[in-house]
Amino acid sequence: MVNMEKCEGGIRAVFTDGSTVRGSVLVGADGPTSIVRKFLAPTTHELHRLPINAVGCALEMSEEQVNYFKDHVDPLYFMGTHPETDTFVFWSLLDTPTSPGNPYRAQVYFSWIACDADEELLKQPLLDVFREKGRPFFPRLREIVDSLPDDTVVTKVNLVDWPSVEWDNWNGTSTLIGDAAHCMVIYRGEGVNHAIVDACQLADTIKSAFDGRISIKDAVNEYEQKMRLRAKEAVETSRQAGHDGHCYEKVDKEGSFALLGEKPV
Ligand SMILES: Cc1cc2nc3c(=O)[nH]c(=O)nc-3n(C[C@H](O)[C@H](O)[C@H](O)COP(=O)(O)OP(=O)(O)OC[C@H]3O[C@@H](n4cnc5c(N)ncnc54)[C@H](O)[C@@H]3O)c2cc1C
Repeated sequence: MVNMEKCEGGIRAVFTDGSTVRGSVLVGADGPTSIVRKFLAPTTHELHRLPINAVGCALEMSEEQVNYFKDHVDPLYFMGTHPETDTFVFWSLLDTPTSPGNPYRAQVYFSWIACDADEELLKQPLLDVFREKGRPFFPRLREIVDSLPDDTVVTKVNLVDWPSVEWDNWNGTSTLIGDAAHCMVIYRGEGVNHAIVDACQLADTIKSAFDGRISIKDAVNEYEQKMRLRAKEAVETSRQAGHDGHCYEKVDKEGSFALLGEKPV
């Protein structure tokens, strides 16, 4: 989409090939770098960058390795903070083998508070950075990190969020859902949950409009009011969890509410 324009009865989206689509409401569900958000919040759409660096990759694990994690850590998912380096680790299973003997797939992610030394560190191949950050963890994780093939694709993850600031919904003809509306960092694992609740709440309010109980404009405003109340707090708590997750003292001794507390959705 390259443009959006008000038109008779609603809104029109204009695409790169010149084609257009008209509708009553244009919903931006286009993720953290949303183009729709640029139109609705032209001066405030930019993402906020957190002072955290992170690297992650998808990797293969044997059944024996996965069973060790299952029996000693968690069968699907774990996160933690290293007591000496304060590096944060996140592991989750992505896929199980389709036939016996084939490997499992998992993802591993390490993050740390950005510091001056990172400028040199991040000039190295990212697989070396990944290994350096992973080696201090428990031996079975170190073994996995050390045995990664040299062609493993490691990605630098940018930690960004957007605290759902007020936007102009063009008189109720456009709105945002999911990460476009409230991109949050991963430390509470809440982003998808909110995206699903957004879709349900927006569908409910739009249904009320089609049933003739309220106008489309009021439906969009009602959705945004409910969503913002819930999502703004989630973005802020996730940001706090991002800070707490890199402080072992805070997690271990004080018990970070942001990181460990119950999720509202
Ligand atoms: C490493 C990592 C781990 C995570 N773990 C969790 C977790 O455990 N639990 C959780 O709840 N959340 C988690 N999240 C967050 C979760 O992934 C997001 O909140 C969720 O994907 C948001 O969904 P979305 O549909 O709003 O956006 P997206 O998933 O970003 O989808 C947007 C879609 O729009 C498409 N798009 C964008 N621009 C255009 C365009 N111009 N034209 C056409 N299409 C376009 C994109 O290609 C994409 O398919 C994690 C995120 C990361 C990065």
